[in-house]
Amino acid sequence: MSVSRIEQLCIDKGMKMTDQRRIIARVLSDSDDHPDVEEVHRRSSEIDNRISIATVYRTVRLFEEAGIIERHDFGDGRARYEEVTDEHHDHLINVQSGEVIEFQNSEIERLQEIIARDHGMRLVGHKLELYGVPVKKGAEK
Ligand SMILES: [Zn+2]
Repeated sequence: MSVSRIEQLCIDKGMKMTDQRRIIARVLSDSDDHPDVEEVHRRSSEIDNRISIATVYRTVRLFEEAGIIERHDFGDGRARYEEVTDEHHDHLINVQSGEVIEFQNSEIERLQEIIARDHGMRLVGHKLELYGVPVKKGAEK
């Protein structure tokens, strides 16, 4: 098995990598959505069915504390995870289907800088989640 991106980051941070941690790291590296712990467990189990949900919880927490993955709460009370990347994006959540859309908007980024500056601060980070429902065709104003 080759080394996944997340596994490499763990190695770089001096983390001890067991086989199960390597699998969980790979599952998270391969995910392009925002899985919760149960989903990470389901995907990991397909590779090694001895991985317990408790192990997934612990490992995900470990990766999160190391700043390798990011935790999100999209309003349904379940923690979801994604790999931390250099490319910043925000999230738009369809509250009917649970679908999560990633977007970037330079105007929003600029406005946030202005708000921080107006309060005498320099922005070092932000989280933005938008919640919506689909508009029926023909019902747009
Ligand atoms: Zn995302």
